[in-house]
Amino acid sequence: MSEKIYDLHCHSTASDGVLSPTEVVRRAVENGVNVLALCDHDSIVGLAEAKAEADKQGIQFINGVEISTLWTEPGSGRGIHIVGLGFNPNSPEMTALLAQQAVLRLQRAIQIGEKLEKIGIPNAYQGAKALACGEVTRAHYARFLVQIGKVSNDAQAFKRYLSAGKPAYVKADWVDIETAINVIHQAGGLAVLAHPLRYNMTNRWIKRLVADFVQWQGDAIEVAGCGQSLEQRQLVAGWAVEHHLLASVGSDFHFPCAWIELGKSLTLPDNVTPIWTQLG
Ligand code: AMP
Ligand code: MN
Ligand code: MN
Ligand code: MN
Repeated sequence: MSEKIYDLHCHSTASDGVLSPTEVVRRAVENGVNVLALCDHDSIVGLAEAKAEADKQGIQFINGVEISTLWTEPGSGRGIHIVGLGFNPNSPEMTALLAQQAVLRLQRAIQIGEKLEKIGIPNAYQGAKALACGEVTRAHYARFLVQIGKVSNDAQAFKRYLSAGKPAYVKADWVDIETAINVIHQAGGLAVLAHPLRYNMTNRWIKRLVADFVQWQGDAIEVAGCGQSLEQRQLVAGWAVEHHLLASVGSDFHFPCAWIELGKSLTLPDNVTPIWTQLG
């Protein structure tokens, strides 16, 4: 008997992915995915299109979103990503939160453009916006900087311009983690701590983050992702078991590339409880 393949974290052109929601679903089907959640950054505008294509293709679709949050723990001041799964997209609380995040995102995008202008790179906001279908993210700025030849790849754009402490970095006043979890719950969904090993934090800090997330009633943690070692997966699985968190899986697919792919190597260790046991 073959097990179902789940991929509960990926992106489309509604945020910084390069495939449309329809194309993401078709690619997931080609890769054998049976259950898919689209989780665009602070946006749910791609969900209806993805759901329609998933219905057409006969795979299960789960509403998703990846909310940008700030961890307000003293001394941390970190941007943390909280994925919401299985919520009602028409919930007034979710609608209000995403409207607020969209304002912050637009203000920040304009400020990034102003900072780039000051260091001799004009018209960057227009350039980044032209590359976006939905929300303008730093990934669009990175692609613009590649396009005009300032850097040779996205990673370099972040390293030289867009990461914290670099000349075009602008801190956004994102919602705090507890509020994001509450809104996901009010909308009837489950809150997932996304990619815990990708915050450039020591394990000591990540464990504090997990403890706060649990205290604020978070439901699950992403245990399986692309490009992880077995040891990393087991480390996060151990935190899930210790804190009675459900385990989620997600490729975090943004665009076709060699190392991140929809539905690829997302097997959960046996000692965790999969989040789909609690998703309708
Ligand atoms: P934003 O949500 O606007 O801050 O944009 C963050 C997005 O940029 C992330 O979701 C990633 O898709 C992308 N990103 C962040 N850091 C890097 C990096 N070092 N290299 C390439 N892409 C990155
Ligand atoms: Mn992204
Ligand atoms: Mn993320
Ligand atoms: Mn993501």
